[in-house]
Amino acid sequence: MNIKTRFAPSPTGSMHIGSVRTALYSWLFARHYDGEFILRIENTDYNRCNYSFVKDIIDNLNWLGLTWDRAPFFQTDNLKQYNLIIKNMLLNKVAYKCYCSLERLQKLRNYQMSKGIKFRYDNKCRDVKYYTKFNQPYVVRFKNPEFGIVSFNDKIRGLINFKNTELDDLVIMRSNGIPTYNFCSVIDDSNMQITHVIRGEEHINNTPRQINMLNSLEKSIPIYAHLPIILDTNGKKMSKRNNTLMNNLFDYRKSGYLPESILNYLLRLGWSYKNKEIFSIDEMKNLFNLKSVNKSSCFFDIKKLQWLNNYYINKLPRNYIICNLKKQFDNDELNHFNNFNLSNCVEVFSQRCQTLKQLSDYCRLIYNNIDNFKSNLSRKYLKIDFINCLTDVYNKLYLLDVWIKDDISVLIKKMSLNYKNNLSFFYMSLRVALINNITPISLISLLYAIGRKHSLQRIKKAIFYIYKKYSKHIF
Ligand code: GLU
Repeated sequence: MNIKTRFAPSPTGSMHIGSVRTALYSWLFARHYDGEFILRIENTDYNRCNYSFVKDIIDNLNWLGLTWDRAPFFQTDNLKQYNLIIKNMLLNKVAYKCYCSLERLQKLRNYQMSKGIKFRYDNKCRDVKYYTKFNQPYVVRFKNPEFGIVSFNDKIRGLINFKNTELDDLVIMRSNGIPTYNFCSVIDDSNMQITHVIRGEEHINNTPRQINMLNSLEKSIPIYAHLPIILDTNGKKMSKRNNTLMNNLFDYRKSGYLPESILNYLLRLGWSYKNKEIFSIDEMKNLFNLKSVNKSSCFFDIKKLQWLNNYYINKLPRNYIICNLKKQFDNDELNHFNNFNLSNCVEVFSQRCQTLKQLSDYCRLIYNNIDNFKSNLSRKYLKIDFINCLTDVYNKLYLLDVWIKDDISVLIKKMSLNYKNNLSFFYMSLRVALINNITPISLISLLYAIGRKHSLQRIKKAIFYIYKKYSKHIF
């Protein structure tokens, strides 16, 4: 069998992290079997869909490397065919026009709610023989079978049964003449010969309705796999309304997560292979299967994602990280000078960073030109008592032959012995001189990352600053 999967987002918002996992699993399943992966934009709900979200989806999938195999398919390009099929369904009496007004449906809803029943259309228009309300708006409903059971063998959850008495006659065309998601999805899955529909658990209730429609149209039924939902730390579904966690891929990108970490994290969020945690893309493709997807909901663990991101920041080739870091700088509006050695910055700071944003914040400390020393810091750490010490450091650094970490380290350690009675001030005044900040970062790392030229310039600047400030006392 030639495996075909699809990712079928509705462009009604920025791409949710749950959708990313759906896309990933569908993509991996297709790639595992050398099959086809289709991107289908389900955009028939004009009121909620927006082209900027289509761009967001395409951009995000490209960023993740989840490539699709033919041009993206837009449902709005296929309206003619949907309408033709609906017309035939009306002729064949497997669908009907429903003229029930919104007021009537609301009354019905209120009544059913007052009886504690879940809302279900009462099929009032189902068996109307002759339509008399020609000029009034109507929707088209699918005639769902009234009895019997719809079953399907979900690849993740096993056998699932629905009683037809629980399903009402679904609207397949809105009163504006535009077909609905459930209908278009069925037609497209069939047209595209999708073999496996892999999607979120929230669609389980749609599946029996879609199977009934496929049966009525005498089309074959794909295999379904419904992925468990993702919960936040409070055990609530990760949703847009919840702001304890970031929900959209865009936010993770902005915060400096790499595509490799996101993919690896989402792969493991609901799927496992032995005790393995780290997966390359090739390993993902080779090892992924639907059998090992969890049935139960899974908790989103930001700490684990951070751990993975730290792993990839340190593991992936330095040039690749630098390239991504530069994009992060653009995002953070950080103007970096070309004469700073970015590779050295990555080398000294990457271990302690879980995101590129943190790495960029460290670089900001390094790159910031010091125009004026912060008064609270200079008052305390750029005092006349340190001028000899700073001058001493300057001279010794100046004489260093090569600017390598080991040599800087030997020098700083040796000097710190000379100032052991005032060690913390020795470190602090140097930090203020170098970065106008007392963030506890190793001086060796700072000097190495800032580089010879800028380090010497900055220390000299601090020395002049002290001279100027205390000149009265000196002369
Ligand atoms: N368009 C649906 C959504 O964005 C997905 C439908 C499906 O996968 O069948 O939730």
